[in-house]
Amino acid sequence: MGRGAHLRGMGALVNPLRSLILAAAGNDVIRRVVATAPVSRDVVRRFVAGETTADAIEVTRRLVDAGLSVTLDYLGEDTTDAGLAEQTVQAYVELLDELSAAGLAVRAEVSVKLTAVGQLLDEGLARENAARICAAADRAGTTVTLDMEDHTTTDSTLRVLADLRGTWPWVGAVLQSYLHRTEEDCGRLAGAGSRVRLCKGAYAEPAEVAFQDRQDVDLSYVRCTNALLAGDGYPMFATHDPRLVPIVDARADYHGRKPGSFEFQMLYGIRPDEQLRLSALGHTVRVYVPYGVQWYGYLMRRLAERPANTAFFLRALTSRK
Ligand SMILES: Cc1cc2nc3c(=O)[nH]c(=O)nc-3n(C[C@H](O)[C@H](O)[C@H](O)COP(=O)(O)OP(=O)(O)OC[C@H]3O[C@@H](n4cnc5c(N)ncnc54)[C@H](O)[C@@H]3O)c2cc1C
Repeated sequence: MGRGAHLRGMGALVNPLRSLILAAAGNDVIRRVVATAPVSRDVVRRFVAGETTADAIEVTRRLVDAGLSVTLDYLGEDTTDAGLAEQTVQAYVELLDELSAAGLAVRAEVSVKLTAVGQLLDEGLARENAARICAAADRAGTTVTLDMEDHTTTDSTLRVLADLRGTWPWVGAVLQSYLHRTEEDCGRLAGAGSRVRLCKGAYAEPAEVAFQDRQDVDLSYVRCTNALLAGDGYPMFATHDPRLVPIVDARADYHGRKPGSFEFQMLYGIRPDEQLRLSALGHTVRVYVPYGVQWYGYLMRRLAERPANTAFFLRALTSRK
């Protein structure tokens, strides 16, 4: 969820405010107002754990206490500055040390965007930086998943994944059902022990590489679900879609998968009741928890996704409390 990451054009029909919010995301004046308004804090905190490692640990503890698992994302992407990439690595290493010290590493892993650790500068630098995060995760006793970004980075990200898996076979991949190539990628990555997150995909992608119609993206999601469940890997189904969740559940049943041999994933603050419901049924449910000072773009994308979120945001901004 990053570069060019407004959800696809068809979404604008569903939510006319989406383009307005996304335009606001690029506006520095609005950014300053939102970032400094005292009321923003509550709105931000609905979707973002906070700015510091301590905030991330606190939210993780609360979610774990509620029976959920967690993957933490230190916000930032598209770095073209090696110094910033280094800061990101250090933030992850500090976080992993703290998760371990707090006894939370068993239930909490991290999600890393390769563009935040130097992929746009040099694939080798991103690989080395990601390897340092993997080494810290290994020490902490947890895992790392490489987020998938826009399609120009897919091959590079899968190459880095393959390299890292040579040392740490538990490194997780992300595949996006909106890409034409993904069903085949699912087949390739469905081997024993392979952790694969399946999501619809969050970037604006051209018709040459991606399905443009919501229905086609959903149908592809179901085909990819089958491909992953038919294999011996560990699929992680990342979706809030109330139609897809029961389909995934039914397909898992069909493939003889027991809870624990796959998991559901949702974003922090989105359908929290559904997260608890699935968990109460015995499923592993992992919540994707973003934190860090660069929360603004992420927040704007979450608000743009849904009219109800937009209304919540506008109400909060205009309320006196
Ligand atoms: C854990 C996790 C990790 C992800 N990692 C990546 C990644 O690495 N790369 C990438 O490209 N994308 C990633 N995504 C984003 C993903 O690709 C989608 O953009 C996002 O999840 C929305 O798709 P959806 O499957 O929820 O369905 P959508 O088609 O967006 O929504 C379907 C339905 O879900 C519900 N819903 C969706 N969004 C909301 C909301 N904001 N509030 C309330 N209800 C909502 C509504 O009922 C909606 O009608 C990730 C998503 C999750 C959950």
